[in-house]
Amino acid sequence: MDNLKISEYIEIQRNYFNSGKTKDINFRISQLKTLLKLVDENESRILEAISKDLGRHIIDSYMGDVGPLKKSINYTIKNLKKWATPKKVHSMTGTKSIIQPEPLGNVLIIAPWNYPFLLLLDPLVGAIAAGNCAILKPSEITVNTATLLNELISSTFEPDYIKVIEGGVEETKYLLEQKFDHIFFTGSTSVGKIIYQAASKNLTPVTLELGGKSPCIIDENTDVKITARRIIWGKLFNNGQTCTSPDYVFVDKKIKEKVINEFKKCILEFYGENPQVSPHYSRIVNAKNFDRLEALLHEGRIIHGGKTDRNDLYIEPTIIDNISPDFKIMQEEIFGPLLPVFEYENVQEAIDYINNNQKPLAAYVFTKNKKFYENVVKQTSAGGMSINDTIMHVTSEHLPFGGVGESGIGKYHGKYSFDTFSNYKSIFINTFLFDRDILYPPYKLCLKWTKRVLSLL
Ligand code: NAD
Repeated sequence: MDNLKISEYIEIQRNYFNSGKTKDINFRISQLKTLLKLVDENESRILEAISKDLGRHIIDSYMGDVGPLKKSINYTIKNLKKWATPKKVHSMTGTKSIIQPEPLGNVLIIAPWNYPFLLLLDPLVGAIAAGNCAILKPSEITVNTATLLNELISSTFEPDYIKVIEGGVEETKYLLEQKFDHIFFTGSTSVGKIIYQAASKNLTPVTLELGGKSPCIIDENTDVKITARRIIWGKLFNNGQTCTSPDYVFVDKKIKEKVINEFKKCILEFYGENPQVSPHYSRIVNAKNFDRLEALLHEGRIIHGGKTDRNDLYIEPTIIDNISPDFKIMQEEIFGPLLPVFEYENVQEAIDYINNNQKPLAAYVFTKNKKFYENVVKQTSAGGMSINDTIMHVTSEHLPFGGVGESGIGKYHGKYSFDTFSNYKSIFINTFLFDRDILYPPYKLCLKWTKRVLSLL
């Protein structure tokens, strides 16, 4: 799409927002219902497009993209009136104080390729709920999903309200030069920095949902079998291309061998002798990411897996031992089916390692000992955590989702999505029945009495 067209859409959306139509709560609810209907009526086409883009089983596309979106829309429809109701708070005698959420206006939502449907439309749920207009920029890498999203959105919503702009870096750069009232970006930390810099020119507020290396710590006092299953599931779902996928493991030296054996058993149980022929094992999204991952296989000792097939974008589930923190695999987010394993003698070694590196998007602890996980929770920082599980904290509408430090700025999901796209406007309402004469200049009270009067307000 040419730049002139893009700026026209932004302009018509600004006019549409200024008409006030999106502020009506019934309008917002009806638009959310329309979005849900769009998903329901086109579910099989959507699942097919995502699965084609990512070489994924359709059940994975339902669990990772379509299912969570439907749940999010239903939850939002159910709660929206409550969230949008202005709230009265404590106020001075004779006055009223109200907090009234209002939409930010015209927002831009930019999505990555790994959950190309959910990560474009779930922020949109928050944007619609809060009463905004939105420009949606899907990832150009998952082209089937992007094309279908464009078709479905443009045949369902007026472009002055919601519009998909397809494109890559050039189109995104142009979009970033325009004025928006909020930019919601999901993607890599490196591109996140570009977005933040561009947004700062217009002082545009941002939500940056970024990545990072999410660690797992395994205590000796754990259920080894269930621990292994939950880590391997989280690691290999979508072929490790999940922002909250467990990136690497720290395991107590005493049970390391047992855990590794259980990892191997679990891979076999999930995907069979040859995962390449399993319909349940996804592929790497493209050759660029395949080459990046293959280059990480040259350091450390591969103790399971390691086979690759570039023509099929296939990388076997791979466990790597003898890892040094200077290896390339520990310098970047892996985002693929490779699992480096470290051992520790004292859990403090793992905690110090995490604290000496960039703050992760997620962290996982496996233990039967409450004190053990409480210690890790207290001593480390992460966007979110699951104890005795991986990824599951992301699935709750009641928990805010987002990063901290290098893993992101801002949170969403459930009410937090509504908050992200709202301005909580403080409104103070006074009366003309009396006035605060004693506080106007020239001052009639000494400091002591002024303090007393102020403390009564
Ligand atoms: P990416 O940062 O390469 O791309 C994301 C979006 O930014 C795409 O729409 C792309 O077109 C655009 N983009 C890319 N380069 C750009 C540039 N130079 N200027 C402007 N726009 C540009 O990310 P990706 O490869 O699509 O996704 C993988 C990354 O996303 C991983 O780091 C992963 O952890 C992260 N991620 C985070 C979350 C989260 O919720 N925190 C969820 C999914 C993925």
